[in-house]
Amino acid sequence: MYFCPLYSGSSGNSLFCQYGNTKLLIDAGKSGKTIEDALASIGTDINTISGVLITHEHSDHISGAGVLARKYHLPLYATRETWWAMKDKLGKIPQDCMREITAGKDFWLGDIGVVPFSIPHDAADPVGFRLYGGELSVSTATDLGYFSEEVYANVAGSTLVLLESNHDPDMLRANPHYSAALKARILGDHGHLSNEACSEALLRLINAGTGNVILGHLSGENNTPLLARRTSADALTREGIRPDQDISLQVALRDEVGGVYILKERA
Ligand SMILES: [Zn+2]
Ligand SMILES: [Zn+2]
Repeated sequence: MYFCPLYSGSSGNSLFCQYGNTKLLIDAGKSGKTIEDALASIGTDINTISGVLITHEHSDHISGAGVLARKYHLPLYATRETWWAMKDKLGKIPQDCMREITAGKDFWLGDIGVVPFSIPHDAADPVGFRLYGGELSVSTATDLGYFSEEVYANVAGSTLVLLESNHDPDMLRANPHYSAALKARILGDHGHLSNEACSEALLRLINAGTGNVILGHLSGENNTPLLARRTSADALTREGIRPDQDISLQVALRDEVGGVYILKERA
């Protein structure tokens, strides 16, 4: 199984996964051209992508989705409520590129088993995804106000998890460019996951068997890759888990295509 965070953050999200002959994207929150180039940089032709799984209708997740459907005829998979919420933002979508999914209902996209699950966020019907390839699985959960038991139940045991580590609460509170309302939104139960909340969730996930962790959806103003990593690394170290030895801990960058993970099944 291959996994690559092409882009992750409030300026645009798109994640790549491949298993067997199937390649897919989760979200298309950069321009079509940017995503096409990012895929080319990891040796993948955009025309070989089978579809795009959409987490929710916020523009940092869908701004390139309309173009991908029109120009490359990529099917978009979203829940009914998300389709309603994003329809007007996408432009005209070919009818056969509109695929409806339901949180909690798994389905196959080629060789990949897909499980959409509900996440707490201020969108119409936001979801995270767990992707199965044989005995391996990759889970992605960003844009969540808190790490709910429902999210834990769906993600626990994944080979690799990309989890949101959005902000440092002190940096956010001190940020003069953010209104009080925006701060309250981000800090609320339907906003975004802080570095500390992320690190607590990771501890549980690693104890449940996850060996590969990627911190994602970092804020550009209220976080730094170094701070996000240090918060999680310190929390793990305190519990006797050594980052980079016992587990792999990486940060997905906002504007740089990430490395490609090669996850192998046991021989
Ligand atoms: Zn987002
Ligand atoms: Zn969002």
